[in-house]
Amino acid sequence: MAEENKLILPAIAIRGITPFPHVDFRIEVGREISVNALEEAEKMYGGNIILLIQKEANKEEIKQDNLYEVGVLAKIQLKLKMPNGNYKVKFKVTDRIKVKNYESFDPYIVVNYEKISSISLNDEEELALVRRVLNVFQQDGKIFLTAVDEVSRLLQSGLTPEETTDVMAYYLKTNDKYKYLAEVSVAVRLEYILEDVEKEKQIIQIENKINQDVKKSIDESQKEYYLREKMRAIQTELGDKARQDEEVDELRKKILEAKMPKKIEDKALKELERYSNTNNQMAESGIIRAYLDFLIALPWYKTTEDTKDLKEVEKALDKNHYGLTKVKERILEYLAVKMMTGKNPSTILCFAGPPGVGKTSLAKSISEALGRNFIKQSLGGVRDESEIRGHRRTYVGALPGRILKGMKDAGTINPVFLLDEIDKMASDYRGDPAAAMLEVLDPEQNTNFSDNYLEEAYDLSQVMFITTANSLESIPAPLRDRMEIIELSSYTEYEKFNIAFKHLLPKELKNHGLTNEQLEIKDEAMIKIIQGFTREAGVRELDRLIQAICRKVVKEILIDHKEKVVITVDNLTDYLGKVRFFNNEGREQGQIGIVTGLAYTEFGGDTLDIEVTTYPGKGGLILTGKLGDVMKESAQAGLSYVKAHSKELNIDIDFSTIDIHIHVPEGAVPKDGPSAGVTLITALVSALSNRPVPANIGMTGEITLRGSVLPIGGLREKSIAAVRTGLKTIYIPIENERDLDEVPNEVKEKLNIIPIKNIDELLHKIF
Ligand code: ADP
Repeated sequence: MAEENKLILPAIAIRGITPFPHVDFRIEVGREISVNALEEAEKMYGGNIILLIQKEANKEEIKQDNLYEVGVLAKIQLKLKMPNGNYKVKFKVTDRIKVKNYESFDPYIVVNYEKISSISLNDEEELALVRRVLNVFQQDGKIFLTAVDEVSRLLQSGLTPEETTDVMAYYLKTNDKYKYLAEVSVAVRLEYILEDVEKEKQIIQIENKINQDVKKSIDESQKEYYLREKMRAIQTELGDKARQDEEVDELRKKILEAKMPKKIEDKALKELERYSNTNNQMAESGIIRAYLDFLIALPWYKTTEDTKDLKEVEKALDKNHYGLTKVKERILEYLAVKMMTGKNPSTILCFAGPPGVGKTSLAKSISEALGRNFIKQSLGGVRDESEIRGHRRTYVGALPGRILKGMKDAGTINPVFLLDEIDKMASDYRGDPAAAMLEVLDPEQNTNFSDNYLEEAYDLSQVMFITTANSLESIPAPLRDRMEIIELSSYTEYEKFNIAFKHLLPKELKNHGLTNEQLEIKDEAMIKIIQGFTREAGVRELDRLIQAICRKVVKEILIDHKEKVVITVDNLTDYLGKVRFFNNEGREQGQIGIVTGLAYTEFGGDTLDIEVTTYPGKGGLILTGKLGDVMKESAQAGLSYVKAHSKELNIDIDFSTIDIHIHVPEGAVPKDGPSAGVTLITALVSALSNRPVPANIGMTGEITLRGSVLPIGGLREKSIAAVRTGLKTIYIPIENERDLDEVPNEVKEKLNIIPIKNIDELLHKIF
């Protein structure tokens, strides 16, 4: 019995689309297994057939596990054989079915099935859902359905909720339709529809956005392309482009000729490519051009051959410089090592000394003697690393740093490179520029010096660096470690006199086209120039004055037709104006409360007067003038000493009834340091005890609270300054006696130098 009630029908598997009850279904049937089923259904089952849905549409072979369990029951309505042997078939679909069993797969599928019916409650919830579905259909039907008109027609014919879900499901654009078939609840199917509509809308939004983006990017690139073409056309029209092509060829030639390292050459050619594609009018074009010009101008391989003969170097140094015996000796030693080893010594030369003593000209002489190019870069005022290393090219107005700029100017890879005033760099800003300089000067690192502008490493290893400094203290220690310091000190008047006649005058005569026959400066006149018109450690001002004389003489020869001019003490003022400096001449008489100290500054030695005066008051101490912190402390300490020893010093004053005023007149150069100690005490004692200090004496020395005199630095400089300002006697700390052999003989001849142990001894000698 059960066997007889069993529902059995042939079945075909459908790919790609899903049939639904209430909607006619048309397909083409081709697979043999399906054609067999079709024929059998017509023959044996009155056209009734089961349509099953294949899970993977691309699979040709049909297997049980590739078929969904829910399908539909249909009846063949129309069957047309096509020329290719396939059938076009129209089905009327009536019911959902569920496969209970597969009876056979050969020669066609036979299934044992059962009908399933939808559950439609027709309740308020379901009706509300139907209404919403119809609403979205009206609004956005086009978005989510394939055949809106057909659906509309069907809907108008009046459909139940169940029919509505089937019709809609059939025409939905969604791929995943099986869920509508498998779901029995009409309400749930309605919800599915609403969800799918929402999804579809989102997909469409995303698609729209993508389309817009694509369109925009196409628009922009087209626009740029269009504009470029147009620009090219205009340039060609104006003949500009042709010029640029010529220019590019020229530049390419220069780049190849410059023999840059491969990596840099590649880069240059790449930049050139960029340049040729950049419009002349654009700022970018100028930036690239400047960069290329710089790469081309920078020396990459060109060297000069060094003189191998040290004797020649010695001769050249002697020829250009008077005196400086020790300095020249050390330079020659340094160069000797360099010649022997064939490479730069690991330390570099540093010429230290006041301005105008020949640091620059010595470096220049070295370069000439060796046959190297010479280049000088001043580091004075450099605060920023980028001044050494340059700016990145992305900055507007970016430039290479001073080192590479110098190399460019030098034109060879082995010049003598003078780094002037390296102490001024550091004293402003001890941070980064000094670190960059370390890299420059370190032979281990400077083969790969990096400059931000160049962007590539540059080899500085063949450069002979020489630095100069006025004061060693302001060079940072790590830099100073790298240097072989050669100190140059002030010249005596005698030396200046010789330098003037042997070097400065001949040089300036030549520079001004004059001969010995046309201009003669008498010895006494030269001494007067040195004493009355200059007050300097070096000879720079002296050189300038000789130039001034030369200019005037040239004029006289040309305008007044003079044959020869002789400069004497008497006519000197006609050429140089009034005498500027007097040798303490106003101070023939000793004065009370004024004492001359000796100072040592970066400009050489100098003298400074300390003035002390007292008046009724309340025990105050007033300090005015150019006093540094150290000097202020010395003043306090000095006063304490005087108070403590007032009895021995014959000072009979109640300190609480007076104010003491100490003044240090401003000189051109600020001076500070402890060596004014003795001078301060002497001035205080003189003022407080009303005893004059003898004229034309000077003194220097640091002092302890107990009155001992401690040694000072720069004795040579100070003694030369003392002679220069016309002092006759100077008092120095006894420990500095050992430095006396540094003091030039002509200074010793003019100056009475008295060593002292303590302040008592000094005061005893003076008062
Ligand atoms: P610095 O670099 O120390 O400031 P310079 O080298 O510029 O000094 O010297 C200034 C001028 O003095 C130059 O013309 C230089 O030739 C000259 N000069 C300095 N010292 C001597 C010397 N010993 N012999 C000859 N000329 C000198």
